[in-house]
Amino acid sequence: MNEKRILLSSPHMSEEGFEQRYVKEAFDTNWIAPLGANVDGFENELADYVGINNAAALSSGTAAIHMALKAAGVEKDDIVICQSLTFSATANPIIYQNAIPVFVDSDWETWNMSPAHLRAALEKYPQAKAVLVVHLYGLSANLDEIVEICQEYGVTLIEDAAESLGTTYKDKFTGTFGKYGIYSFNGNKIITTSGGGMLVSNDQKKIEKVRFWSTQSRDKARHYQHSEMGFNYRMSNILAGIGRGQLKVLDKRIKKKNDIYNYYKEGLADIQEISFMPENGWNKPNFWLSVITLKTIKPQVLIDELDKANIEARPIWKPMHLQPFFEKYDFIGNNVSERLFMSGVCLPSDTKMSEKDLLRIVKEIKRVVADET
Ligand SMILES: *Cc1c(COP(=O)(O)O)cnc(C)c1O
Repeated sequence: MNEKRILLSSPHMSEEGFEQRYVKEAFDTNWIAPLGANVDGFENELADYVGINNAAALSSGTAAIHMALKAAGVEKDDIVICQSLTFSATANPIIYQNAIPVFVDSDWETWNMSPAHLRAALEKYPQAKAVLVVHLYGLSANLDEIVEICQEYGVTLIEDAAESLGTTYKDKFTGTFGKYGIYSFNGNKIITTSGGGMLVSNDQKKIEKVRFWSTQSRDKARHYQHSEMGFNYRMSNILAGIGRGQLKVLDKRIKKKNDIYNYYKEGLADIQEISFMPENGWNKPNFWLSVITLKTIKPQVLIDELDKANIEARPIWKPMHLQPFFEKYDFIGNNVSERLFMSGVCLPSDTKMSEKDLLRIVKEIKRVVADET
């Protein structure tokens, strides 16, 4: 195999070196830790970008979900309604809080939480404390309906926008519809700090409380005093510097992700075997990953064949209600998320790919489809 490996999605630092400038500034002032100007700057700049009042920079998207649940008052034995089709990082923090997840199926229209099944879940569990909706692969959920249902039942909405920074729903950014929104800056996300996350909300008091909890809940006293359990969840000033630089190229990355998606759509348009992720009029996705579904070929066959050609592709997330760790919890829905998992393939969506790389991928997919059908 002599052609270079094409990756699914890998870190892409700015050509201008913005990230290194912010990191150097932190070195020059010895503001390596704790917190510091880059953390404040990153919080303010991200909040401005998405149009929200407050943000707390944390060590991961998972930590941000954990803090959102805690801020929403989720405690032991509380019910949290959670989208089943997602990465396990959405659901694990429910368990950190000793709460009980109830998983809800997706719909074909959005691949995200089905409003009808959400309503059924809330009929069954009207005492639920929070709803965790996800915007998978940069596609937004059906937010108007989900927001309305949550209001009707008086339940707190949390948006896991880990994969959808920059996606808009009717011209408003995902992550800003619920009481809380979270973003991730893990290595394969649309922008990265190598690892990190952000919790956003218009409730300033709650965000201040999250900053307090995530720096070990130190009371305002000269001696070390704690009246609440604490966490070590803050983002470092160095990583926040990388984030500030990355934020400057977010729009460029979104543009490139769109170009990648459009390239696949055109290149694979006449192939009956392949369908593309759903686009809705109200949805302006960041196209973090370009995802297809296959009619007859097993995803693993295409993934293995691409791997032989040194091209990385992945299956769709395996739904939580089918996971050995989570299967004992209730699930409301049919088999949409399961069928998406059984037919879906995430194609390479790395923003460093050239047109030549994309041509190589499309050719290879066409070859596999021709051989297997
Ligand atoms: C990446 C991801 C997370 C977790 O973010 P980390 O920063 O890796 O902790 C949560 N939810 C979804 C849907 C993700 O893709």
